[in-house]
Amino acid sequence: MVILSEYELVEKPPRGFFVVSHEKSICPCCSGALECIGSRTRTCINETSDKRKLIIRRLRCEECVRIHHELPDMLIPYKRYESKCIEAVIEQNAGLAASFGRCSPMQPGLAVAADESTIRRWREWFRRIVEYLAGCLESAAARFGIGAAVRPEGGGRSALKRIKRQAGAEEGWMAKAVRTATNMNLWVHTRSAFQAAG
Ligand SMILES: [Zn+2]
Repeated sequence: MVILSEYELVEKPPRGFFVVSHEKSICPCCSGALECIGSRTRTCINETSDKRKLIIRRLRCEECVRIHHELPDMLIPYKRYESKCIEAVIEQNAGLAASFGRCSPMQPGLAVAADESTIRRWREWFRRIVEYLAGCLESAAARFGIGAAVRPEGGGRSALKRIKRQAGAEEGWMAKAVRTATNMNLWVHTRSAFQAAG
């Protein structure tokens, strides 16, 4: 899996929306060049439950011959809802936890039309990967000098705060965080966690 941040969606009925990359992806395993060997369709659901079909490229590494699918960062591997929907639910959850006992209103955010069980699965999924994701971003920061310096007291801070310290606190932090972890080939180690909750 490779995740793009620079792309556009080009609609070609009846197949759907082609994800056209504006960046040069490299193999997350060995940094080799990638060649396109086909495509596959992914369903993408937005906050109002509208479904779109995305056509993503199937790429093969010219060096290690591994196959990678090229996902736009509006999606998270193995999730059908757009990442902004899942981010909004996690934000609301964090807002509720922060305001608990202080009677402050929930933070305004994106209203997401998803059923309770789906929302519960997203929260469970995030609860399971949040520490790992924070660690991925901190190791990326240390390895490549990108993001913020890792504070030695990192372990004492909430994992969500550590993620936002690296990916930024503004909208889109989840897409950025997942993209960094995926393109560094770190997410494979937690593949079951990503896959377990749709
Ligand atoms: Zn490779």
